Order: sequence, then C-alpha cells, then structure tokens
Amino acid sequence: MKLEIQLNSLHPWSDDLEKMCAQLFENLKRVYSEDKKLPHDLLSVLQFVFQSPLMPALELVEKEAVTRILSQSNREIFQVVGSSGTPYICFPNLKYCPCPAYQYSVLTHEDYIMCKHVLAMNLALAMGLYKEMTLSDEEVSRIIQDMD
Ligand SMILES: [Zn+2]
Repeated sequence: MKLEIQLNSLHPWSDDLEKMCAQLFENLKRVYSEDKKLPHDLLSVLQFVFQSPLMPALELVEKEAVTRILSQSNREIFQVVGSSGTPYICFPNLKYCPCPAYQYSVLTHEDYIMCKHVLAMNLALAMGLYKEMTLSDEEVSRIIQDMD
C-alpha cells in the first residue's frame, strides 16, 4: 500500500489524460470482444496517442508476455516480460514501470504517455489476452520488494 502511494505521487497523471486513456481502453475492450479484431481506425487512434511504444506493446500482448498475478488476498499485479526477456512488474492504474524507458522517455522527457510494458498491460487487460497466476501473499510481497 505504501509503495503505491509513493509511486502515485512520483508522477501523477493529469485527470484529462487519465480519462482519455481509460476511454480508449474501454473502447478497445468493447470492439475487441465483439469481433476479436483491432479495426484500422481504432489502431490509428491508439498509434496517435501512444506513438512508438504501441506496436512493440501489441507484439508483447500477442506473444502472451503479460501475466496477471493475484495474491491470495486478491492483490493484483502484472508481470510483463520485455522483448529481451526481462520481466517487469507493473501495477494496474499506475503508469510506473521499473524499465529504463519509463525513467528516460516517460518520466524525464515526457515523450510518451506510458512505456510499452504498461501499455501492453492495459492492452492485454482490454483485449482479455493475458495469462493468470495465483501466488501467496508472501510471494507477491517478495516480488514487489525485489523491485527496488
Ligand atoms: Zn516499462
């Protein structure tokens, strides 16, 4: 809990941006659940908003690189395995990621709204394309502690 508050205050999303992203993922969820396809117009909007991390993020989703990890007490975290095989832990509703691109392109330079891992997590959630795993509370706590 403490970690999440710290991460939130580190770099809060503006309300408008957060709403726009939430709406986009909501649209994607609706459209994709109907015909299991990403229509071209929606893809163009996603590309416009998320820019160059979009295609790598979609590739990660296709490769089933996103795993939703639930603890026994229903705490939810995500593991996204990057293209080089490095696993990154991401949190729902946060754009924090321990990867270098987050530090450089998202946080410092504000080039992108989110890195490809956080984007992949959100796309995978919207499209329902993720693996699921349940771990004990201790294991989930250990994973989060190991991030530092
Ligand atoms: Zn990342």
